[in-house]
Amino acid sequence: MKPGSNASSPRRWSLAAGLVWLMALGAPSHAAVLHARTVHLRSGDQPEWEQFATRTPDGPRLDLTFNAPRNDTEATLFIRQDEVRQDWNVELNGKRIGRLFTMEADLVHTIGVPAGALKEGENKLSIVPPKANDDILIHEVVLELKPSREATAEGTLAVRVTEKGAPVPSRITIVDSRGALAALVAITNAAPGRLAARPGVVYGDGTANIGLRVGTYTVYASRGFEYSVATQTVRIAKGESRTLALSLTREVETRGLVGCDTHVHTVTHSGHGDCHLDERMFTLAGEGIELPIATDHNTNINYDLPAERTGMRRWFTPVAGNEVTTPAGHFNIFPVAAGAPVPDYKLMDWTKLDAALRATPGVRVVVLNHPRNVHNNFQPFAATNFNAVSGENKRGPDFQFDAMELLNSSAQQSDYMLVYRDWFALLNYGYRVTGVGSSDSHDVSRYIVGQGRTYIETDDADTARIDVAAACSNLLAGRALVSMGLLARMTVNDRFRVGDLVTNVGDQLRVSVNVAAPSWSSATRVELFANGVRVRERAPGILPGQSAVTSKGSGLTGAATRQDAGGTFGVEWVLPRPAHDVYLIVIATGPGVDAAFWATPKPYQPTSPGWTNRVVAVTNPIWVDADGDGRFMPARGYAKHLVEKHGRELARLLRALADFDEAVAAQAASLCSTPIEAHVLRGAAPHVRRGFEAYATGHW
Ligand SMILES: [Zn+2]
Ligand SMILES: [Zn+2]
Repeated sequence: MKPGSNASSPRRWSLAAGLVWLMALGAPSHAAVLHARTVHLRSGDQPEWEQFATRTPDGPRLDLTFNAPRNDTEATLFIRQDEVRQDWNVELNGKRIGRLFTMEADLVHTIGVPAGALKEGENKLSIVPPKANDDILIHEVVLELKPSREATAEGTLAVRVTEKGAPVPSRITIVDSRGALAALVAITNAAPGRLAARPGVVYGDGTANIGLRVGTYTVYASRGFEYSVATQTVRIAKGESRTLALSLTREVETRGLVGCDTHVHTVTHSGHGDCHLDERMFTLAGEGIELPIATDHNTNINYDLPAERTGMRRWFTPVAGNEVTTPAGHFNIFPVAAGAPVPDYKLMDWTKLDAALRATPGVRVVVLNHPRNVHNNFQPFAATNFNAVSGENKRGPDFQFDAMELLNSSAQQSDYMLVYRDWFALLNYGYRVTGVGSSDSHDVSRYIVGQGRTYIETDDADTARIDVAAACSNLLAGRALVSMGLLARMTVNDRFRVGDLVTNVGDQLRVSVNVAAPSWSSATRVELFANGVRVRERAPGILPGQSAVTSKGSGLTGAATRQDAGGTFGVEWVLPRPAHDVYLIVIATGPGVDAAFWATPKPYQPTSPGWTNRVVAVTNPIWVDADGDGRFMPARGYAKHLVEKHGRELARLLRALADFDEAVAAQAASLCSTPIEAHVLRGAAPHVRRGFEAYATGHW
């Protein structure tokens, strides 16, 4: 507490805590409430998020003085904290005994107090700020004069999670009556290491014995995007053992699609985060990931052994990979052959680096990761490296990666469209870059593995034996869908799907979109993009479970919408035949999920204190051969042709561009050797002007 703040003085804390302690000693409990009022602490001098902008923090740190007896055995602190992003140390009498749990959620964190750390009489507990900017809340601090296991397991709860009667790997989320992720301990008598447990969260094989403090809890069982969530309230009394059965059902049908997380870490091999190798197996199986790609930093990792020893191998097919972490960007490569050397991760030149990545035995896919994040002072798609309108590489020759992360659930963007627009620019330039979604999770619960994911067209009948070669081929061919809480499928003329080239285009294109969501998520907006330009939009406003709504499609702008009981709805658009080749992409979005079993994290490197949480689905392109020459011509291809033809006669070039979309205009702008003066542009068609102006500024 900052001296002079309007909160109680240290002296009063001492008195208050002392009184509580005396009462506690008089009662059978060994607990003392050291602090029971919400305080807002801020490190740095900026409000971290909008929610803190109008609040005056109580101070940079919290100091509590209290009277206690000396502890000859371990004692336990329960700290109810919220919004913790950075490393805040917890000190007792000036010595560090732990740190707050780094997670921006309301949770009860358990810290063991070593024997002898409490002294007879007055003690001082401090929560000490880091250097980095962070706004946090401390709601409560409780001290128990018992070892943490005993203090936590006042009663036990045996949970069994099943699908069709059989236990199924899943996530159990336990929230206390105040809405905080509960203090818990996994009781693992017979089989140690059978669970991954964190505050309020347990991943396991479907059965878990969990120690809890006395209280009333809401228990959720979940299994990632495709499954229902089962919920039950339980009351745990002192010394009581309770059982709870929860059953899950599949809500999103994904036959023929493999749920893949292209970006998965462990603390074991990456050295940061908190998820150990065996724990990772339970989190992957528990979130329903069927094709996990191991991508620790600069090390080739294979999950086969831990998957076998934890009994999780039947639930997924592990793929060996590596996040090649260079001073100039991070690239995921897979599959990596056993015994392959680690590629040179000091390379800065992307052409040389790409050669090294592809020389790694086995590697078929190279993914550019989180292109808008800054690591080592390098942002792959910074304006100095990349023109986000034309897709040009400003650092060298053409890009060579096969795929890029459109969505990384651990590293969300303040502007969620930013990376999609980058991708549109690449596609307009003529690159065939597959969009992927991933979690980049290093943790058990702070970031949920598989929250961002990619559905790849591949036979999924046997999850333990997925054809990795086929999955890689399909990913490279763009037969993949990006998902974070929604899944969007698209067909053109009932026949062509993502990755296809639509040929024999008639007068009209019929674009059918199906958006699927589990009962706990919903889509409220579906947009269709042609060459990255939004051409249709629909706000169905239909929540899963609601009755069907149908509006008859009519003519060029009509759309029919319907919904079945499974939480899907269809949108159909009829487009006139485009004037030239375009690729079609659908983006569906809906309100974000805040519920504790799937809460999405805030942006990783925010560019503003505001943020809108949303679920999202993105398709890969369907390529439309509208000009009927049997192949796809990207925007840059048309632009090249037009600039060659009219290059020296700008007025004619601008007139010719009127028959093409703004993506072609932007590419033409990048191909014109001299900048075009404003007065020349003034006479051009509005969309042509927009393309030129966007190119000049580097953003749409
Ligand atoms: Zn990375
Ligand atoms: Zn990573």
